Amino acid sequence: MVPGFASTETLLYGPEVKFYSNKIDIDENFETNIKGLYCLGDSSGWTRGLMMASLMGVQMAKKLLLN
Ligand SMILES: Cc1cc2nc3c(=O)[nH]c(=O)nc-3n(C[C@H](O)[C@H](O)[C@H](O)COP(=O)(O)OP(=O)(O)OC[C@H]3O[C@@H](n4cnc5c(N)ncnc54)[C@H](O)[C@@H]3O)c2cc1C
Repeated sequence: MVPGFASTETLLYGPEVKFYSNKIDIDENFETNIKGLYCLGDSSGWTRGLMMASLMGVQMAKKLLLN
């Protein structure tokens, strides 16, 4: 079905399983309902990959630099 799947060089194949966590309530500045506590990236539960987690980091950095 998948060429190379049963190759003699293949040691182990396994499924990637992702458990989705709860999403933290955050405002447009990534601040939680606890004043001064910010949550972004995977810790916020809103991202599940490098691109989106990175973008949240860049957005947060911009907000910090502009304030
Ligand atoms: C096995 C695996 C494969 C993946 N493959 C892909 C992929 O192919 N493509 C993709 O887009 N995404 C992939 N991801 C998801 C991606 O890695 C994450 O979405 C991304 O790294 C989240 O970035 P983050 O900065 O939010 O969190 P993290 O990268 O988890 O960074 C959090 C950091 O905070 C540090 N930290 C934690 N607690 C404390 C503390 N108390 N004090 C100080 N530091 C602390 C940790 O040590 C860590 O360095 C994969 C994830 C895993 C686990």
